[in-house]
Amino acid sequence: MKKIFIILFTTLLVAQEKYPVDHEMVAKIREEGFERSEIENTLSYMTDVLGARLTNSKDMRRAQKWVTGEMKRIGLTHIEIEPFMDYGVSWDNEFFSIHMLEPDYQVMVGYPISHTPGIRGRKKMNVAIADIKTKSDLEKYKGKLRGKAVLSVPMPVIDLDRIRNGTPRFTDEELAVLANDPPQRKRRKRPPPNPERVTTVERNAFYKKEGVSVILETRGKRVAMVPGFARPGAKKDKWDRQGTLNHLPIVTVTPEHYNRMYRILERNIPVRIAVEIKTKIGRERQWARNVIGEIPGTDLKDEVVMLGAHFDTWHASPNASDNTSGVAVMLEAMRILKAIGVQPRRTIRIALWSGEEQGIHGSREYVHKHFGNPNDPEIGLKPDYEKFSAYYNQDYGPGQFRGMNLQGNENVREAFTSWTKPFHDLGMTIISPQSLGSTDHVAFDRVGLPAFQFLQDKIGGTGGHTNLDYYDTIPIEDIQKNAVIVASFVYHTAMLDERLPRKEE
Ligand SMILES: [Zn+2]
Repeated sequence: MKKIFIILFTTLLVAQEKYPVDHEMVAKIREEGFERSEIENTLSYMTDVLGARLTNSKDMRRAQKWVTGEMKRIGLTHIEIEPFMDYGVSWDNEFFSIHMLEPDYQVMVGYPISHTPGIRGRKKMNVAIADIKTKSDLEKYKGKLRGKAVLSVPMPVIDLDRIRNGTPRFTDEELAVLANDPPQRKRRKRPPPNPERVTTVERNAFYKKEGVSVILETRGKRVAMVPGFARPGAKKDKWDRQGTLNHLPIVTVTPEHYNRMYRILERNIPVRIAVEIKTKIGRERQWARNVIGEIPGTDLKDEVVMLGAHFDTWHASPNASDNTSGVAVMLEAMRILKAIGVQPRRTIRIALWSGEEQGIHGSREYVHKHFGNPNDPEIGLKPDYEKFSAYYNQDYGPGQFRGMNLQGNENVREAFTSWTKPFHDLGMTIISPQSLGSTDHVAFDRVGLPAFQFLQDKIGGTGGHTNLDYYDTIPIEDIQKNAVIVASFVYHTAMLDERLPRKEE
């Protein structure tokens, strides 16, 4: 009995030493992050003064310039704006308004979709329902739409439930499920293709041919909310000037304004609107860029620990949650580490990605260029592949970290369990085996590099990609905690004797 106890005790001791917690450093990080936090100021400046940052827009260039200055102020080195791919021509919306004039005057809320052209001056036009689903519908509308604005989708049924702001925090029971038996991600089954069905791209081409002036649509089901701003069928290689100019302007409006026009038209009463759309389309193709900064390492300075978030957003709001909150957390984590004067063994590198919203382009291209891709013989492995330890990301809203997702890498469970302990009092308690997708850590994970997205409460913000994503929706205390936790995870990863283990080790 006694012998077993000793063996157990020794194993525990050894296990603890492999991934120790530097309690003195954790105390310093907490003090800096809670007593002298700058995250509120950073988030406010980025959302209030800089605003939206569509990849390859003028807004984005201005914000990237600002953030390099901010990195300098924090004390980072090797600050670089690094081009990663040809992203076509720039696109900025400079002015927009839409009003219903008849049968009643009303200011309407809407936004032009990205990479669509503007119109000359303020134009008055009639609105028509042109809800096209099948090829036979095309015939029905031929010759009837010239010069009109068309309602291009059916009326949505408005969802009167709470918006994301009101989502409760994870309960202990829900966290236990995520730790022990997380639900498997289900692949949605696609219905078999219907040859009669007209795609959105085909439908829009028909409108163009018929001389439609503006395509009106709505993408959401929530009152006052306009989500989603990607042009249907758009690919970055088609974002040439002529392609954008050849397209029709697409305006997405709130569901309740859209439905009001629709119901009036169903009574056979004409709807007349005034629209003004001014967009600036660049003349030359440009490369999109990521912003990088570092705290240099010491004895293992050639090795790297990374942290990051996507800096780009859609254009209809400052996108406080998606992903200005993530950017603010990562910048604040770097500021904390610099302010307390860490001397990390490995180099700590922050990356603020671009092109995430159009398909995780910035992080993927960065990973391939610097670390390689074992799955693609043309890219192969770069020497830095072996010098990479781990990447930490935030992009699941502004809610506080409640745990860490292992991303299917059981080899890091022990490290993360140990490093989570000093933050149990902040509500960061669990380790979940689950893998998350849809954001920049995936770019690393896909090539076999350890990369993680924290498990976050789903509170704050409006769910991303909306017109309602402002500073006021962000729980500041939550992101303060996140910055402290990231700083500690990054620090502990940088101080290990070995790199963080990979899935296959
Ligand atoms: Zn995002």
